[in-house]
Amino acid sequence: MAATIFDSRPLVTRMTRELRDEAAKFRKQHHRPARLAQLVAGHDPAAEVYSRQLVRSCREIGLSCATLAAISGDANTDGVILLLPLPEHIRQRIVTDVLLPEKDVDGLGSRNAGNLLLGFPSFIPSTADVILRILQDAGIPAASRHAVVVGRSNIGGKPAALVLMRLDATVTICHSYTQDLASITRNADILVVSMGQPGGITASMVKPGAVVLDAGINAVEGKVVGDVDFNSVKEVASFLTPVPGGLGPLTHLMLIRHTLVGPE
Ligand code: NDP
Repeated sequence: MAATIFDSRPLVTRMTRELRDEAAKFRKQHHRPARLAQLVAGHDPAAEVYSRQLVRSCREIGLSCATLAAISGDANTDGVILLLPLPEHIRQRIVTDVLLPEKDVDGLGSRNAGNLLLGFPSFIPSTADVILRILQDAGIPAASRHAVVVGRSNIGGKPAALVLMRLDATVTICHSYTQDLASITRNADILVVSMGQPGGITASMVKPGAVVLDAGINAVEGKVVGDVDFNSVKEVASFLTPVPGGLGPLTHLMLIRHTLVGPE
């Protein structure tokens, strides 16, 4: 079976159009453009690329984007994101707890994470929210299906698992202590991978016909690749998100949506 390769472009175009309207509405209501601030600490090359792309998306949609050190309390700033990873000497919790929950648009702080866990309105970390949106947009039902999430980071695997549970999937979470990962992933109807290991999931680990969503972003020999071995898995899966061009471009739009629309 050859998988349908997810093409983010139509959804990017549609979301961009929707968000331009939202940005215009915001400008009219508040007499200023919405502003999303990024908190960048240190010099991580991947974070810097991400940061530049986000600034570009904001400009295209009509938001101002600031790179500041401590802006959470600024009345003219509507969203703040933290570019990860932080340098080792900075503890993430100290920074995320400073962010006001209503501006923590990537859902990193304990208030939003707790609300997501409890099923209350919250900012869902953008990758997990994009997964939700792709499944809905592609008309892929999750209810009663077995979803396996590989990775348990606070920004990737954990929120993805919560979102899938919200969609009534039966969810299994795997991590580096999981024994015989392949025997679990081979049982997945929906497989979400956020493990930070290029080629971490190969065709023999995927159930024929599975839906595979690859959140990985890894630089290998100057190229960006995901965690899924794209060429072999596309022959087995029924639906596969590529890297680059899959989840990535949508995560920026999701952050902008959160800034404009608020928690859902
Ligand atoms: P981390 O890199 O912080 O952690 C990796 C997770 O995968 C951990 O939970 C780890 O387990 C688990 N893991 C690692 N190796 C294995 C293995 N062999 N078998 C099973 N589980 C394993 O996770 P992130 O979610 O932050 O990042 C993952 C990837 O997603 C990276 O490539 C990153 O660049 C990318 N990313 C993409 C984003 C996007 O917008 N698309 C946003 C953020 C990240 P343990 O907990 O036991 O260590």
